[in-house]
Amino acid sequence: MKRTRIVDAIKMTQFGETVNVKGWVRTKRGNKEVNFIALNDGSTINNIQIVADVVKFEEELLKSITTGACLSVTGKLVKSEGAGQAVEIQADEIQIYGLADNTYPLQKKGHTMEFLRGIAHLRPRTNTFGAVLRIRHNMAIAIHQFFHQKGFFYWHSPIITASDCEGAGQMFQVTTQNLYDLKKDENGSIKYDDDFFGKQTSLTVSGQLEGELGATALGAIYTFGPTFRAENSNTPRHLAEFWMIEPEVAFIDLPELMDLEEEFIKFCVNWALENCMDDLTFLNNMIDKGLIERLKSVVATEFVRLPYTEGIKILEEAIAKGKKFEFPVYWGCDLASEHERFLVEEHFQKPVIMINYPKEIKAFYMKQNEDGKTVQGTDVLFPQIGEIIGGSVREESYDKLMERITELNIPMKDMWWYLDTRKYGSCPHAGFGLGFERLMLFVTGMQNIRDVIPFPRTPKTADF
Ligand code: ATP
Ligand code: MN
Repeated sequence: MKRTRIVDAIKMTQFGETVNVKGWVRTKRGNKEVNFIALNDGSTINNIQIVADVVKFEEELLKSITTGACLSVTGKLVKSEGAGQAVEIQADEIQIYGLADNTYPLQKKGHTMEFLRGIAHLRPRTNTFGAVLRIRHNMAIAIHQFFHQKGFFYWHSPIITASDCEGAGQMFQVTTQNLYDLKKDENGSIKYDDDFFGKQTSLTVSGQLEGELGATALGAIYTFGPTFRAENSNTPRHLAEFWMIEPEVAFIDLPELMDLEEEFIKFCVNWALENCMDDLTFLNNMIDKGLIERLKSVVATEFVRLPYTEGIKILEEAIAKGKKFEFPVYWGCDLASEHERFLVEEHFQKPVIMINYPKEIKAFYMKQNEDGKTVQGTDVLFPQIGEIIGGSVREESYDKLMERITELNIPMKDMWWYLDTRKYGSCPHAGFGLGFERLMLFVTGMQNIRDVIPFPRTPKTADF
């Protein structure tokens, strides 16, 4: 008989009809006459209740069904008399696909997030991770939906790259060389001639530079793919492997870039509110009581647009009034997360798009302002998260870009192709990068970035 997904079965009203469901046992309880099995197949946070009359089944069969076992159940769909569910299934046939003995680590009791990280291969079967991972899927769909309907093209920047100008020192190298027998030249430098690509290559830290090639050909593109950073940041907001969304758009300026950033995040958050309410309600009850409220408020509020220089003034005034920060604040400093969170959570109590940063603390490709001191970078700062988006208008002038590259001593020998965008038909353009897992943190209310991706990669951890 054709299987009905539990998400559909619990909404059915054709009482008396025979249905088949398959799934994993969450709990089983019962008495001498009847067993109640809560079955979940991952299609929804909700379980369906299976009612098994003891007389209809072998005692051994019912006894062997324990938490974690996988079953196929055929029976009559009936209106439930019990609280908490509309329907249940009066089982006629139970087939056991796989048993789970008492070593199954996900017994009924609550588990800590740390414990669950140690069993990341099984944690998707918990309510919390089921909810998070269904929301993750929905966010991915929202992203494609948003850009597709705006006429952006999905663009695939390469994952293996030879340009080492971005984030020097935090890239994972890609090689087929025998690391036990590295060929070196007379200066002791590694010879890459015999390596697979004939040069030093790494996993990408960002698809932006290639994304700019897309934008200056197709008009508007977005990437959505994995990126890798070997930064030793053991924080609840950094992963070594994370997914990034990087739209890049020709012919837009700073205000239009900020509009795009704001519209995009609101679209995604609203998508969660419209499509993931069951899972959000669960997370709101179990993880973060303010979650749904916060999501609704972000969709409804206008983000603050704040020049860096004004932001520094606000922070200095706060310090003058007695506010204590760990790190010093002065014009030119790179804001720490405590400063960003003060502005967002205490001062404005709204998301903030900070713009026009000192050029010294931002990347070489950002468009320089007339003042000669600041560049048109935009960081979107969020409650709880801090930086969720980093973006900028790109410097389109070949000369100004070259000047910056020379000043910063950036090795450009592998970057000639990037400079060609400024040499041939250069145009104003802008873009941003949003860390998918940072968005996931915000949307789920989870506290640690390791818990919003199926298999987190962080310093000293690459299990599963
Ligand atoms: P941070 O200061 O938080 O390390 P960043 O300035 O290094 O961020 P960008 O290089 O601008 O970040 O990258 C764009 C976006 O990618 C960030 O706004 C953030 O959402 C996300 N991001 C950056 N590094 C990580 C990481 N290690 N893990 C997860 N997301 C990240
Ligand atoms: Mn970083």
